[in-house]
Amino acid sequence: MKNTPVDPFRSIVPPLYLGISYEFNSVEEGAQIFENPALGYAYGRMGNPTVTAFEKWLAKVEGVKEGSVWATSSGLSALSLLFWGLTAKSLGRPKRVVISPYIYGGSFHQLQLWRNDHDCEVVFVDNPFSLFSWEKAIKPGAAFVFLETPTNPTLDIFDIKTIAKIAHTYNTFLVVDNTVTPVLQKPLELGADAILYSVTKALNRQSTGLGGALIGSPRFLQETEKTLNDYHISTGAIMHPLSAYFTLLNRTTLQRDMELFSANALQVAQVLEGHTKVKKVHYPFLPSSANYALARRQMTSGGGLLSFELESFEGARRLVKSLQSARLAPHLGDENENLIIHPASTTHSKLSPEELSKVRISPELVRLSVSLGEMDELISELDEVLKTL
Ligand code: PLP
Repeated sequence: MKNTPVDPFRSIVPPLYLGISYEFNSVEEGAQIFENPALGYAYGRMGNPTVTAFEKWLAKVEGVKEGSVWATSSGLSALSLLFWGLTAKSLGRPKRVVISPYIYGGSFHQLQLWRNDHDCEVVFVDNPFSLFSWEKAIKPGAAFVFLETPTNPTLDIFDIKTIAKIAHTYNTFLVVDNTVTPVLQKPLELGADAILYSVTKALNRQSTGLGGALIGSPRFLQETEKTLNDYHISTGAIMHPLSAYFTLLNRTTLQRDMELFSANALQVAQVLEGHTKVKKVHYPFLPSSANYALARRQMTSGGGLLSFELESFEGARRLVKSLQSARLAPHLGDENENLIIHPASTTHSKLSPEELSKVRISPELVRLSVSLGEMDELISELDEVLKTL
């Protein structure tokens, strides 16, 4: 996380720096940068100008000052940075974290590891649809509270404003995973203290960069900046410059692309909702969705991810395998490809059958991430394949 100027030559395209070592003018300059890495570049793990340009851009997207973003090697490394930093003894916060169980399977599994193998209490909120349940979980104290909204893969929506208020009542931070809906939802403006992204997904949109980010509000930074800076560098949870570069190249169309993802996903969701072979469609901007009113309050549109339930696991298996216009792959937010997956056996396979059923990921559930292309072919193929099930 740097505040230094990026490009002395003012290239129009963000310059790509792949070098990992930077020459000092003097011993004194080297000592100053090692003392405060925000003052310049020394070594790739301590900062890189292309990654700084990415961090500055993302700070602007979220309306926070430069220096409020930590770019990381993946979304999961942003989560582990958060965990290491906020549960550090030196911060003096409770060694206890409160988590919504409705999260990406990899995040869930990382938190299972923290819970099973480390000296920290990891509390999963019993029923995240009940504010009472949130309050009960947060009240004994927490280093931070973590939720994902919209959720992957069930597209549930949680009330950021109200949960942030509960978190603040008990003197903790609310961190929101906004991976599915960058720019369509502004968690910091709704009262959250930090945002977590898998940059790999909708922020990059071209499947060309694995990355993550943590973005803090001024209040969050005031307490955690020094510690998180230290853990960022010391654990090596840093973003590769190529991931930063490719994501920056695609920056200008982010808003427009997110709106098009939303329009495409809504179109597909509406068609699926009317299909006799589909039991239930999960998309927050369907007026029939239980999440619709809240989604409209806290998001401008729903993003490119939807999921739906068929009548049987066998039907789900056949559908994801047969479609030609959607590729069977574990990823979301790609602008060129429709991507389909069976979450229970892949992205969420580390959850036990009981855990899966608790978060309503059934064997019949299929997740679909739409591209920015025309939806006609996908829609007619879905109809054809569904009719055969
Ligand atoms: N958060 C969400 C909502 C995700 O979907 C993912 C990955 O799919 C992650 C976090 C983890 O990100 P990464 O794969 O970049 O580590």
